Amino acid sequence: MNRRTFLQWSLLGAGLALGAGARPARALGKRLKLSFKPYTLNLRHAFTLSTTSRTTTPAMLTQVEYDGISGFGEAAMPPYLGESQESVAAFLSKVDLSPFSDPLALEEILTYVDGLMAGNTAAKASVDIALHDLVGKLLGYPIHTLWGYDGSRAPRTSFTIGIDEPEVVKDKTREAAGFKVLKIKMGRGTDREIVEAVRSVTNVPFTADPNQGWSDREEALDTIHWLQEQGCLFVEQPLPKERVDDLAWLTERSPLPILADEGCQRLTDIRSTLGVYSGIVVKLMKCTGLREARNMLTGARALGLKTLLGCMTETSCAISAASQVSMLADWADLDGNLLISNDPFEGTTVENGVLTLKNLPGIGVIPLPGLKIP
Ligand code: MG
Repeated sequence: MNRRTFLQWSLLGAGLALGAGARPARALGKRLKLSFKPYTLNLRHAFTLSTTSRTTTPAMLTQVEYDGISGFGEAAMPPYLGESQESVAAFLSKVDLSPFSDPLALEEILTYVDGLMAGNTAAKASVDIALHDLVGKLLGYPIHTLWGYDGSRAPRTSFTIGIDEPEVVKDKTREAAGFKVLKIKMGRGTDREIVEAVRSVTNVPFTADPNQGWSDREEALDTIHWLQEQGCLFVEQPLPKERVDDLAWLTERSPLPILADEGCQRLTDIRSTLGVYSGIVVKLMKCTGLREARNMLTGARALGLKTLLGCMTETSCAISAASQVSMLADWADLDGNLLISNDPFEGTTVENGVLTLKNLPGIGVIPLPGLKIP
């Protein structure tokens, strides 16, 4: 611990003991400044799910500056969440960080941001991520270290294979040769063909994500038994989230864990998954960021639920942020940055199929030269 870091820790301790008014930041009169700019993510392959297909994802890059130090954040907006660059810009324009003179007061600041408007979870995540990055940099430690997690114990991540013709699926599977788990998108009536195409190339275990695309519960149960024989580990959101009774029926009989993705967005949704699913999928863009993701992963485990830490198509900024809490999850699916061709950050990588965190203060990202926000 260098002298600056020691002083910061000492002052943080004093602040915690004496109340925020005792912290040095307020006395120095420094201010938090939020900036943002739209950024469109270009996908390497068209990304086809049970009901949609697209080649780009709208995103927003954010930056919170304090005392000459910048924290970086991001909102990624796949269409199904209902947010857009316009809605995120409108939300961020309402965020006024000027009353907060102490960047370490994350609970206070993020409670304010969350209370500004309902919804807008990706927009809120973009502020949460940038603030965590900033706080880690101010204190001189990676976020996972500040929270007491061992960065070398990050899990392996799956790599996602979208719905496509069998020959294309085989090519994508060959491209994913370094991954120890695959995630196969399903739900367009070609599930078995796709799994067989994957199996003709590799024997690595896989996970299944029909994105609510199955409709008959008996047929779903048959498919799950077949998937288990093929080496499937779990199934995300097999039926529409509204069909709670059918989901509970399926979970009770399924030989594989059934996870709520579309059916569980935030911390307060966890209670409604009990008895309906065997686990949940946590994503920063669904749940407003790192603060709530950490609470969800811890809370779900305490309730005996399995957890998958997932992502949208997003840059290395949000992926590196998520990787800070990946040690809390049973499984990780943090491949969104690998699915895009214009990543403006360097951060957490995948080595031998395992998430490999950069041992840098904050969320562990470096912006590529020339990136300006705004
Ligand atoms: Mg999913």
